[in-house]
Amino acid sequence: MFLENAKRNGWIEVVCGSMFSGKTEELIRRLKHAQFSKQKVKIFKPAIDVRYSEEYVVSHDSHAIRCTPVENSDNILLLVGDVDVVGIDETQFFDHNIVSVCKTLADNGVRVIVAGLDMDYLGKPFGPMPNLMAVAEYVTKVHTVCVKCGNLANHSHRLSENDKLVMLGEMHDYEPICRHCFNEILIQEKHHNGLI
Ligand code: ZN
Repeated sequence: MFLENAKRNGWIEVVCGSMFSGKTEELIRRLKHAQFSKQKVKIFKPAIDVRYSEEYVVSHDSHAIRCTPVENSDNILLLVGDVDVVGIDETQFFDHNIVSVCKTLADNGVRVIVAGLDMDYLGKPFGPMPNLMAVAEYVTKVHTVCVKCGNLANHSHRLSENDKLVMLGEMHDYEPICRHCFNEILIQEKHHNGLI
């Protein structure tokens, strides 16, 4: 399926950060540049992410680009066709097989740009993201500022009580905070729960 691309030079780019860090905006910016350059672009996202639209990748600042929701990572290889660039949004929600899917695409000459949360709300590496960062040629961490102190934010603090890991991000569910404020909150929560 990729024989016609075999001599092209593919690679993997990862764009990651906390909630509201501008990951999706950066993904859309890179994909639109590729489209302006007359490259064939295809965009995927996990079918679980139906926050705004089932057919568009939409950033928090309402930029949108058409995309294909897929149930699992293997469907990307089935649906990709002959393209120059593949974009994947909300990549943290994919199964771990997404890593070999991205490698297969890059090995066959496709530029792969994946965007996703680097850490979950507990501060742990999120799903396949750490492995994708390991195999990628380029990793970009984007940041916003901490809502509590204005320092550089790299955590997504969950405001709701729900401890389900796969929760989609809206402003009222999460806030971006820095390492220091994240640690302060952890200590406060341990006090609150009688663990200290
Ligand atoms: Zn802070």
